[in-house]
Amino acid sequence: MFDKILIANRGEIACRIMETAHKMGVKTVAIYSDADAHSKHVALADEAWRVGPPAVTESYLQGDKIIEIAKASGAQAIHPGYGFLSESPDFAEKIEASGLRFIGPSSSAIRAMGLKDAAKELMGKSGVPIVPGYHGSNQDADFLAKEAENIGYPVLIKARAGGGGKGMRKVDDPKDFRAALEGAQREGLSAFGDAHCLIEKWITTPRHIEIQVFGDDHGNAIHLFERDCSLQRRHQKVIEEAPAPGMTEEMRAAMGEAAVRCAKAIGYSGAGTIEFIVDASNGLKPDGFWFMEMNTRLQVEHPVTEMITGQDLVEWQMRVANGELLPAAQDSLTLNGHAFEARIYAEDVPAGFLPMTGSIDYLSMSPLARVDSGIREGDTITPWYDPIISKVIVWGATREIALARMSAALAESNISGTVTNIPFLSALCAHEEFKVGNVDTGLIERDLDDLVVAGDLTIADWALAAVLAGNLMEDRPINGWSLWTPLNRSVWLTARGEEREMLVTQIGPKAFTISHSSEGMDLEFSLVSPNTLTLTSGEQRKSVQYFKRDDKVTLFMNDDPKVFDIITGYYLDDDGESTGNELLSPMPGIVKVLNVAPQSEVNAGDTLVIIEAMKMEHSLTVARNTVIAEVLVEAGQQVEAGEVLLTLEDTDA
Ligand code: ADP
Repeated sequence: MFDKILIANRGEIACRIMETAHKMGVKTVAIYSDADAHSKHVALADEAWRVGPPAVTESYLQGDKIIEIAKASGAQAIHPGYGFLSESPDFAEKIEASGLRFIGPSSSAIRAMGLKDAAKELMGKSGVPIVPGYHGSNQDADFLAKEAENIGYPVLIKARAGGGGKGMRKVDDPKDFRAALEGAQREGLSAFGDAHCLIEKWITTPRHIEIQVFGDDHGNAIHLFERDCSLQRRHQKVIEEAPAPGMTEEMRAAMGEAAVRCAKAIGYSGAGTIEFIVDASNGLKPDGFWFMEMNTRLQVEHPVTEMITGQDLVEWQMRVANGELLPAAQDSLTLNGHAFEARIYAEDVPAGFLPMTGSIDYLSMSPLARVDSGIREGDTITPWYDPIISKVIVWGATREIALARMSAALAESNISGTVTNIPFLSALCAHEEFKVGNVDTGLIERDLDDLVVAGDLTIADWALAAVLAGNLMEDRPINGWSLWTPLNRSVWLTARGEEREMLVTQIGPKAFTISHSSEGMDLEFSLVSPNTLTLTSGEQRKSVQYFKRDDKVTLFMNDDPKVFDIITGYYLDDDGESTGNELLSPMPGIVKVLNVAPQSEVNAGDTLVIIEAMKMEHSLTVARNTVIAEVLVEAGQQVEAGEVLLTLEDTDA
């Protein structure tokens, strides 16, 4: 086995590969751009080398520089991960020529599958079913329009160099054909430098089912069953699963056999995926699938295959690249249970799936799931790369159990500091058709409106946020404040475009009445652990996770994180002044003004101290005529919420 490998990638997949390498006793070399200098994959590696500025063209796509680093570091092989250079035949070829090993297929295999038209041609010749269509070289618009007529509408125009759903146009009506062709050509040219297009019959009720294949350098090829990736938005996968719901043994055998034939046709070595499109309009039938393309690399969704087969596909890749035989024979592989993967992205779904950035100030993932992630608490999501935060992967003995576990795991995935697609993923898991395995690639688009609704905020949410905004869940301020009975405080919060003043009255050591205009409720709670409290309201009791930062409270409830901005901190309400003998700071802040000294005589309503918190001044007044006993703070001093600032003489002056 190699002693040391370089991973030409970043983020979750770089971390994933390092974990297996580490397990196998293989040292790892990371590369990083300036934007990633402090990222998780750099921390996990045995050594890390800077590759360039943040832009991918100047860093992760710098093949020559990466090969130089590999040599200088003494690595014997390069793992490309997915994306970036993973499907670049030139990169693979240069690695082969440099005497290093590419942990992936040969450059000729990548090249054979690189263009959709040539790949289809080759697969058709090898006896693999392909989608009816035109994939020849004639690019004349009139000619292609005629081909589209022959194929029969609707048709799908695809840029032959396309990927990731780019450069594709569905056309329902012949009169729209030309404009769509021009659109696909433009997109193909700008994204992939190649305007060449092919035309396919549009499969109605399409399902995306792909087969994981593996080959070795000794002419062997096998498959590791299927994955269903039909839950897509704009041709991008959202939730993947294995096995495919409704799959029959007969169809699995037919698809597996076709996939292995694909791999053998190009002498494939390493991990690959054959993507098929399936016509699910009348259930799954062994003659109802067609080759779409082959991805000559590890897929994002490879973990679901690992979960149902118990195999480590990265280990397989390394062993095969090292010249070993395939680690298992076809008939020794078994398929066990069911697995799902959901991709958590920093994206604002209600705003139209807008990619988001942000600094992750709180990250708590569910112990129910395998979590593959390149992001830790404190890390930043920059605009430079794909905003994936983590992949949540679950297994269950049945599909139903696995899906329920996914729902639970998503509900327990609590992230603050950016907006994520978790509520959308949760809504998908609860979708009635998806729940029974009735999936096709149009499901998300059809039901999008129901899948992206943001939940309403209840008075209970506002009340809890108000209590947390004042750190009232902590012991000290509550004990301190209990001398002030009853004490009214108020806080201004905004959330989801609404602004509210919440009035908080303490009615017990850990009990409050919170109100806003005519709505109100009593809340009682205890802090169970940092960021978790148990809430009692009437006879109901529940546990809530939250995250509090100076100016922000996040409640993690019902899969839908509710973020409240604190616009003014706590101040004492007019009738909430002290009747006790201690003047307490109602909030953390700085003593801005101190108007009194021991023995000062003061009158009811006088301002004794001004505290500054979050750039706002808060005056603390005295309720009765009296004399100051002790002054316990100095001007300019930082004070905590509930800290005693000064004490008063017992009697009225
Ligand atoms: P890309 O390389 O951009 O991912 P693919 O050829 O893999 O493009 O297709 C992406 C997705 O588009 C598929 O998963 C499927 O949902 C849809 N699709 C592709 N071909 C067809 C077709 N002929 N009919 C219907 N849907 C299709």
